[in-house]
Amino acid sequence: MHVLILGGTTEARRLAQAVCDARPEWRVTTSLAGRVARPLLPVGEVRTGGFGGADGLARALRELHVDALIDATHPFAGTISFHAATAATEAHVPLLALRRPGWVPTEGDNWHRVASLEDAATSLPALGRRAFLTVGRQGVPAFASVDDVFFLVRAVDPPEPPLPGHTQVLLSRGPFTLEDERALLQEHQIDVLVTKDAGGSATSAKLVAAREAGIPVIVVERPPVLASVQRVGSVAEVMDWLGQLSPWGSPRTESGGV
Ligand code: NAP
Repeated sequence: MHVLILGGTTEARRLAQAVCDARPEWRVTTSLAGRVARPLLPVGEVRTGGFGGADGLARALRELHVDALIDATHPFAGTISFHAATAATEAHVPLLALRRPGWVPTEGDNWHRVASLEDAATSLPALGRRAFLTVGRQGVPAFASVDDVFFLVRAVDPPEPPLPGHTQVLLSRGPFTLEDERALLQEHQIDVLVTKDAGGSATSAKLVAAREAGIPVIVVERPPVLASVQRVGSVAEVMDWLGQLSPWGSPRTESGGV
């Protein structure tokens, strides 16, 4: 079996590890877009860079003799997921999407859900003057025209212009602890948090810190998903699916490796 994982997420790295552990004889390749200068690398083979659209991905699936395609990309990486669906159909390769569940507000949260980064920028000045912006490097330009707000931007790599007029950049990669997030909000006198609904535990402490401090949170909702693509929420479920595909049975059951 050759399993191709579209990656760039914690889940994708965990999945590569799980498959390699359970089925060392299988070929596992993770594909990265190449956005991050020094990415955390998964086990198995790694290829980097775009495929050249859905057609290019379909060609790669055939040329690499891929038996199963897993879309384990970030919930906000909508284009590659769309291409994966088209390419898998074209190349007749089974496709499964691995998506971590979105965050859910709890009592005490003051969340403002918006449909896009642009909507977040529009609603921001009414909610605060000192924003903690955690929407990823590529999302920062959407806030460039917001002049009357100070931005503390946290990203793995430096965001590229245009940036908002009052911006301080903090280069950092999660996971982040609650203690650190509390201190950050306090140190920079943050009065509003802006985030995408990324889900997962690595970056969720900021939501707890915001709740404790009574700070409003602008939550950008996820882009719509393709109903035609089967989706699961955990690495274990992917392993079960791979086991059903493989003529050699479930890697999870046989090795107990996940
Ligand atoms: P995107 O808008 O969905 O994709 C844009 C283009 O980048 C795709 O058409 C494809 O180019 C290439 N691409 C994306 N993911 C790829 C992958 N895993 N392997 C090879 N090519 C890929 O994606 P994005 O939002 O820029 O995200 C890029 C990557 O960063 C994703 O892999 C994602 O998992 C990761 N990431 C994204 C976010 C986020 O908030 N968007 C956050 C954390 C991590 P071609 O058309 O040439 O094939």
